[in-house]
Amino acid sequence: MPDTPPSADGARVLADLNALRAIGAYKSGVHKPTFSEPHLRSLQWLLARLPDAGLTGAIDGIGNVLTRAAKAGPKLLAGSHLESQNYAGWLDGPLGVVYALEAARVINLDPTIDGAVEVAAWCDEEGHFGQFLGSRSYVGAVTDEEIDAARDRSSERSMRQALQDAGLAGRPRVKAEIGRHIGYIEAHIEQGRVLERSGLKIGVVTSIVGIWQYRITFTGEQNHAGTTRMKDRKDPGLALARLCVELDERFPRASGPRTVWTTGRIALDPGAPSIIPGRAEMLFQIRDDNPEVIENLERLLRDSAAEVAARSRCSVEVTRLRSGVPALMDAGFQDAIEKASAVVAGGRSTRMPSGAGHDAQILATIMPAGMLFVPSIGGISHHWTENTADEDIVTGAQVFVDACGRLLTQ
Ligand SMILES: [Zn+2]
Repeated sequence: MPDTPPSADGARVLADLNALRAIGAYKSGVHKPTFSEPHLRSLQWLLARLPDAGLTGAIDGIGNVLTRAAKAGPKLLAGSHLESQNYAGWLDGPLGVVYALEAARVINLDPTIDGAVEVAAWCDEEGHFGQFLGSRSYVGAVTDEEIDAARDRSSERSMRQALQDAGLAGRPRVKAEIGRHIGYIEAHIEQGRVLERSGLKIGVVTSIVGIWQYRITFTGEQNHAGTTRMKDRKDPGLALARLCVELDERFPRASGPRTVWTTGRIALDPGAPSIIPGRAEMLFQIRDDNPEVIENLERLLRDSAAEVAARSRCSVEVTRLRSGVPALMDAGFQDAIEKASAVVAGGRSTRMPSGAGHDAQILATIMPAGMLFVPSIGGISHHWTENTADEDIVTGAQVFVDACGRLLTQ
C-alpha cells in the first residue's frame, strides 16, 4: 500500500447514486425492469462516466456493461447491476456499480498504485428474464437456446425482442478472459437487519446461500362438500395444511443458525367453496449455506410429507425444482475487506453469510470473489422505501475503495 491510502469522494458517490435514482424514479425509489428505457438510459449514464475512470467499455450482446483499463498491472473486476425489481429501491444494484466506478476513478488515475479496477454492470440480476443471465453469460454458462426461450415475466416480451428493441441484437456476448482478473468484488445493501441491529457499518460476506426449491403435490379424492361425510374424505388440502404445521415444528431441530424456509404458494384444485379438492400443491423453498443441513432438511421434508399423506389417506409427490450450491467467498478477499473496515470504519464490521443471491456467486465459479454489505434501514429492500443513511453509504464507499487498493497491492 502507498503511504496515503486511496480514498473515496463521498459527495461524488452520493451525487452519482442520486443521478441514477432520477432515471426511472418512482416515489423515493425506481422502476427499472431489465431492458426498459430507464434501465438502458442508466447503462448509457455509466458508459458516459468511464473516461473519468480511465476505462473504455461497451454494452455486450446480453446487456452487460464491460470495461477495460489501459493501465498496466493487476486487474480487479468490480460491479453489480443497474436494473431494479418492479417499483423497488434505488440502491439495490446501483450502490455496487457506483462504488466500483468510484474505486476505478480513484485507483486507475493514481500512479502510485500498481493495477486497475475494471467496472461491470451485470444484466438482469433481478431475474426479469431468467436467473443471473448477464453474469452467467460472462462465465460461459448461458446457451443461445436459453436466450431464445427467455421471456420477461411481467410483459411476456421475449429476450430476443428486447435485445432487438435495445439495438443489441447481433452483438457478441463478452466472455471472461481467464487469468485477466485477480478476482471480483461487489458491494451491496444488506437487505436485512443484522448490521442495523448490532450498530455495525460493514458486513464481510463469508458465503452466499444456496436456494433449494420443491413442488409438493398431494392427491386425494375430489368430491361434493355437502354430501361427503367427514370420515369418508380424502382431502389433500388438509394434508397440505398438516404438512406446513409439521415442518414448522420439526425443521428448527434440524436447521442451522441461519436456515430459512418458506411456503411461497399454495394452490387447491379445483379451488371452489363447494368442492373437496382433488389435488393440493405447494411451492416450498429452503436457503442455507451448508449443503449437509439442506440434505437433512430435504430428508425430513420427504419423510414428513409421506407420514402426513398416509395419515390423510392421500398420496404425495415431492419434486426438487431447483438446487443451488452455496458460494464461498475467498478468504483473502474477506481479510482485505475486514482490514479496510478496521482502518476506515473503526472495525465496526462483522462476518456474515448472504441470504440473498448476488452476481458474486456466479463470478465465484471462475475466480476468487468477495462481497461487502452496508446497512439497510429497517432491513427493507425490494420496495421503494429501501434506504441507507448517507453517512453509511459514504463509509461503505471508503471501505470498498480501500479494500480494492489492498487487493491490488498485496
Ligand atoms: Zn441486487
